[in-house]
Amino acid sequence: MNMDITPLKDWGLPIDKMFLIAGPCSAETEEQVLETARALADDGVSIMRAGIWKPRTRPGSFEGVGLKGLAWLDRARQETGLKVCTEVAEPAHVEACLEFNIDMVWIGARTTPNPFAIQALADALKGVDIPVLVKNPVNADIGLWVGALERIHNAGINKLGVIHRGFSSTREMVYRNNPNWKIPIEFKRKFPQVPMVCDPSHICGDSKLIFGVAQEAMDLLYDGLMVEVHPNPPEAWSDAKQQLTPAQLMEMMAQLNLSHEESESRDFQQRMEQLRREVDGLDNQLLDALSSRMNIVREMGRLKREQNVSTLQPHRWNEIVQDRVEKGANLSLSNDFVLELMQAVHEEAIRQQEADRIAGSN
Ligand code: PEP
Ligand code: MN
Repeated sequence: MNMDITPLKDWGLPIDKMFLIAGPCSAETEEQVLETARALADDGVSIMRAGIWKPRTRPGSFEGVGLKGLAWLDRARQETGLKVCTEVAEPAHVEACLEFNIDMVWIGARTTPNPFAIQALADALKGVDIPVLVKNPVNADIGLWVGALERIHNAGINKLGVIHRGFSSTREMVYRNNPNWKIPIEFKRKFPQVPMVCDPSHICGDSKLIFGVAQEAMDLLYDGLMVEVHPNPPEAWSDAKQQLTPAQLMEMMAQLNLSHEESESRDFQQRMEQLRREVDGLDNQLLDALSSRMNIVREMGRLKREQNVSTLQPHRWNEIVQDRVEKGANLSLSNDFVLELMQAVHEEAIRQQEADRIAGSN
């Protein structure tokens, strides 16, 4: 579906160099909300976040202050001039936010994958003119992310954007959530008109790692950042480990390097053109090599079928993985990359052998 999205500059929000949203994971007390708002406003930040209803994985942890927090946000907005936003998960949340003049809402990562919840939110948002940001679903499924966006768009919301907050993973990782950059990159390729913000706080889960992920988002041309900021992070009622102080946020923003998609320099353009032609040539060689490899694989498939030998030979596959990962490491290619590459090649080899087996059996 071709979505009609209002360009970020026309959202009626104060967006200067980038779309920066900062504020605590959760609104805790009126003092904490106002203290954060004042510090952010003094630092020139103009959009504040704070969770009022918190989707927690397990019951019993702090689930947000609820309705009273909206009055605190409204007060922060009036006192400092900040725009304020919060997470909505149910139609009643949307209605309450409108009542308290909340300037923007976002949909959380646990709500996005649920089409019933999203449809109910879309119905509640009909005729409403505030921007809506949709976080990626917790699972790495681009279809659910797009589907949620389409439901909200069908309700007549055109000030629509997305937040990349990473994906849950069972793999050992330094991050709390796997950034899985290829998913937001693919999203951007398909929907270049949809503003995209990175939430490094929920990707990292650790305040020390946030700068690197925020910088990577800038290098990938994201429109902005949503960063969790708390006046006293160790004492925060939720996500204590990943929140920055307002001063740390300022330090990070000063260090972030913002790049452009293009350069006017003729030298740069010519040199890039040469290098791109080299890359094109190498990609062609890669495709030719893969195609030759697949032809051999199909011949092996014919031999296996004749002898009633299985498509998968676990020993051989294990040898390939170990050998290629080791060779890759000697060529400065990461283990994960070589493993994923070989898995993709092997999956296609199996698919082709199986397709031939089925075609042959007709
Ligand atoms: C949050 O923004 O505090 C939050 C709960 O995030 P997510 O939906 O990304 O887990
Ligand atoms: Mn949080």
